[in-house]
Amino acid sequence: MPPKPSIHTMLQTAVSQLKSDEAKLEAQLLLQHLLHVNRAWLIAHQHDVVDDKVLADFEALLQRRIAGEPIAYILGRREFYGLDLFVTPDTLIPRPDTETLVETALARIQNNANQTIVDLGTGTGAIALAIAKHRPQARVIAVDISNAALNIANKNADNLQITNVQFVLSHWFDELSQRRFDVIVSNPPYIEENDAHLSQGDLRFEPKSALTSGEDGLNDIRMIIDNSLVHLQPQGWLMLEHGFNQAEKVADLMSNAGFVSIETFKDFGGNNRVTIGKNPLIINEHWAT
Ligand code: GLN
Repeated sequence: MPPKPSIHTMLQTAVSQLKSDEAKLEAQLLLQHLLHVNRAWLIAHQHDVVDDKVLADFEALLQRRIAGEPIAYILGRREFYGLDLFVTPDTLIPRPDTETLVETALARIQNNANQTIVDLGTGTGAIALAIAKHRPQARVIAVDISNAALNIANKNADNLQITNVQFVLSHWFDELSQRRFDVIVSNPPYIEENDAHLSQGDLRFEPKSALTSGEDGLNDIRMIIDNSLVHLQPQGWLMLEHGFNQAEKVADLMSNAGFVSIETFKDFGGNNRVTIGKNPLIINEHWAT
């Protein structure tokens, strides 16, 4: 029998098999996951050998990754805005780009009990939970059309002990009756139906319903924009994530729907990613909610 490989050798062999740019990190994450240890432990114990079972399980996880399965689905976890989130193939994998939406929202949400925020298409709950955590006095409603996604989002809220989020099964505003919010946020599907990227990388494994939205990718964005003003308080904000090349169209749609103070923000990669617009209505004595 050949000698058992050390952790160092296992990782080296894995890196040579993985094609990803992040091979070293991914190999470490897979082994950490099986051994229930952190990266520092792995480095400190690189001359150790592991059980046969761990060796076999590591090989199996490696093969899944080599076959293209996203690392987040294999681990069942992804970090987003400092939150450790459960993810499954029922949910989109939270992306760093979406942290731009959270930051844009937090900059416009005060921490007081009167503020209500809705996150449309919450998936793992990433956006809703990040906002709720940083604005503990505010009330957040997180909506999704998928029961499976809402179960994960609920589990994430429990795990993170975030209690100011309420989850609602709904297609966009359908089950929210006449409720009005101070802020509406959404990272809806926005990829063009025939975009070649859909057959590449992680996107192949993610729910289509969370990714694509008609020929120009804007079907859901149009639907949300057209229905938002009646769900916004006077001076309330609509904030949408969109594709890198959709900012102008989203701004036009918002402008045509009657929004004002329209502005686009870039993600950390320098791409236009989030466009916001304000309800022009000003509160007066005739206003009744
Ligand atoms: N930003 C993601 C991507 O292009 C798509 C997420 C979405 O459609 N909301 O991979």
